Amino acid sequence: MYCPFCGAQDTKVIDSRLVADGGQVRRRRECLSCTERFTTFETAELVMPRVIKSDGTREPFDENKLRAGMQRALEKRPVSVEDLEAAISRICHRLRATGEREVPAREMGEFVMEALQELDDVAYVRFASVYRSFQDISEFAAEVDRLRQGGKKSGKKGDA
Ligand SMILES: [Zn+2]
Repeated sequence: MYCPFCGAQDTKVIDSRLVADGGQVRRRRECLSCTERFTTFETAELVMPRVIKSDGTREPFDENKLRAGMQRALEKRPVSVEDLEAAISRICHRLRATGEREVPAREMGEFVMEALQELDDVAYVRFASVYRSFQDISEFAAEVDRLRQGGKKSGKKGDA
């Protein structure tokens, strides 16, 4: 690929290794012109099921949203980025393995809870205690922010 620093077309791979339980390839590259080094991550692009939200609307699966929600639960916890990425890979794998074209957000939430339970008990409790009443990872992240800023719980959503 082109050098992101100078745009030169020739960059060479100086190191390549599997990460995230073999679900990703990490490559160190060096530009032959400006000698800057940078890292690329390569993953297979596979079709993920769409997510059915609790109100019945559908949205595309968003790995960044998933990652953001999990990072929020794992904040200041002793869990490495690699372990988190491996957990995300496993969740994605499970979602694909359902063979469904659409998966309820609730089911995805259960996968996330199981993954967090394996990674870190505190993160699991954080996630589980808040998530159960939200059903959506982005809402979860927003709620954690509110809790941290005010210390005051915002009202739980009325519907159970
Ligand atoms: Zn360059």
